[in-house]
Amino acid sequence: MTLPINVVWFKRDLRIEDHAPFYQAAQSGTVLPMYIIEPELFQQPDSSRRHWHFIHDSLTALNECLSCYAGRLIVRVGNALSVFEDLRQKIGTFSLWSHEETGNAWTFKRDTDVAHWCHFHSIIWHEYPSHGVVRRLKNRDNWSTLRNARMNDTIISIHPPFYFINDIEGVPIPSKDDSMFGDNILGTTQKGGRTQAVQTLNSFLKERGKKYMLTISKPGVSARHCSRLSAHIAYGTMSVREIEQMTKNKIKTLEQMNDQESQFFKNNLLAFLSRLSWRCHFVQKLEQQPNIETHCMHRAFEGMRESQYRHDYFQAWSTGNTGYPLIDACMRSLIQNGWITFRMRAMLMSFASYHLWLDWRQTAPYLARLFTDYEPGIHYSQCQMQSGVTGINAIRIYNPIKQSLEHDPEGLFIKRYVPELKDVPHPWIHEPWCWNQSTLSYPTPIVDHKMAIEYVRSQISLRRQQAGFKEQAQRTYNTLGSRRQQTKEPKKTLPHKKQLTLFVPY
Ligand SMILES: Cc1cc2nc3c(=O)[nH]c(=O)nc-3n(C[C@H](O)[C@H](O)[C@H](O)COP(=O)(O)OP(=O)(O)OC[C@H]3O[C@@H](n4cnc5c(N)ncnc54)[C@H](O)[C@@H]3O)c2cc1C
Repeated sequence: MTLPINVVWFKRDLRIEDHAPFYQAAQSGTVLPMYIIEPELFQQPDSSRRHWHFIHDSLTALNECLSCYAGRLIVRVGNALSVFEDLRQKIGTFSLWSHEETGNAWTFKRDTDVAHWCHFHSIIWHEYPSHGVVRRLKNRDNWSTLRNARMNDTIISIHPPFYFINDIEGVPIPSKDDSMFGDNILGTTQKGGRTQAVQTLNSFLKERGKKYMLTISKPGVSARHCSRLSAHIAYGTMSVREIEQMTKNKIKTLEQMNDQESQFFKNNLLAFLSRLSWRCHFVQKLEQQPNIETHCMHRAFEGMRESQYRHDYFQAWSTGNTGYPLIDACMRSLIQNGWITFRMRAMLMSFASYHLWLDWRQTAPYLARLFTDYEPGIHYSQCQMQSGVTGINAIRIYNPIKQSLEHDPEGLFIKRYVPELKDVPHPWIHEPWCWNQSTLSYPTPIVDHKMAIEYVRSQISLRRQQAGFKEQAQRTYNTLGSRRQQTKEPKKTLPHKKQLTLFVPY
């Protein structure tokens, strides 16, 4: 009897541990593990070579892992439909197994095309949920219950022996320098791969996480004390469930210690767990409303900034030359390292959207290309939130000087990334234009903070006064808003006064 052929299509899930499609495919027949490199994906405005570097490491690791079980990853380059059609002509009918992907508009369309193709050729495509995202959800009332149940479910282990199909033509994994992956990157990229993911989590749970919340907003030290798992989660070298369960086990151990230091560490890990939940919450938004990549969540904000685009402002912001030291240090650090902590991401975005009045659709793809951990669901929601166009979140305008004083008081981070300021004495490092020294080769502030903010307030207030604003905000909240307390009767109305009218100075 010949066993059915099961093609496991790896996408943003580059592991075999806790991998339902791989497990189920292996249980029911022979397995052909496949990764398709889609050159067109790398031509999208939100894709970059930096992503490829991380994927490259992770594919190499995945292939090594499969080889331990006498398998190999079949890598193909091309359009997914053509690759599958070619396969069908060579091996006949097969079943397709993968995780559900909540990606950008391009991958959404590609998946729709693949679904039609499967239907046409009577190929069954078995899709399994990814992390905590629930497909075909009508509203968010029960979402966190469903998500948490999934996180508490048993981790799917690896059950060899596997029956692999290895005699199918593939290509070697293209090099990191291959021209199909776009412009060269200027800095470095975090290393990908399963082993790196496990080591990163272990070091966070052993030591690094002790100072997680103390340092999370400090640009100089957060790279060490944050988990640094975001790229691993984005490319699925570990599942969120694995991370949650290992963290919860650590919390149990700490609870038994009963000393102050352990309690402190435990509280840090609880804060980390809530961020893992936010991660699923944000990706769920894109799952439910794919057009948040291209449209303001609240339509009153359409047309507010688009026509006022200033390329000189974009250039200054995107290269770290705005004349605001912390903004420039953060941007240059991001270009160099492909990662920066949450608050600094929020400040960079807020500065572009409020101070420079740049439309988020012009700046979000640029940041996406710089972030190794680019995750469309988190990214577009956050970019919209930090630009004040959701209608359901407080408007947070970060004052770059205040942020600098609070999070880099000595200016050490600034001096590391903006060497033009290395000789500026401490009190002036946050506002070098006040230093009575004319020889600096550093720009003066591109805009005046106070004047820019006055304009922002007036523009946003005008939009909020439009007829029907509250009603549409309520509809957005019903579909996408977070239900913070999961009581038996979840709140059905938007907390208007607090959320809609407040400008929060940060
Ligand atoms: C404008 C903007 C864009 C962003 N774009 C992305 C993105 O493309 N990809 C991405 O992974 N994160 C994004 N974030 C969220 C956050 O900044 C990063 O997840 C975090 O800094 C990653 O570092 P870490 O893994 O050490 O995080 P930790 O603080 O250790 O958090 C653990 C995990 O929780 C999740 N997480 C943490 N913070 C958030 C948050 N605020 N919202 C949702 N999930 C969160 C991430 O998966 C993260 O890996 C963005 C934030 C802003 C303000």
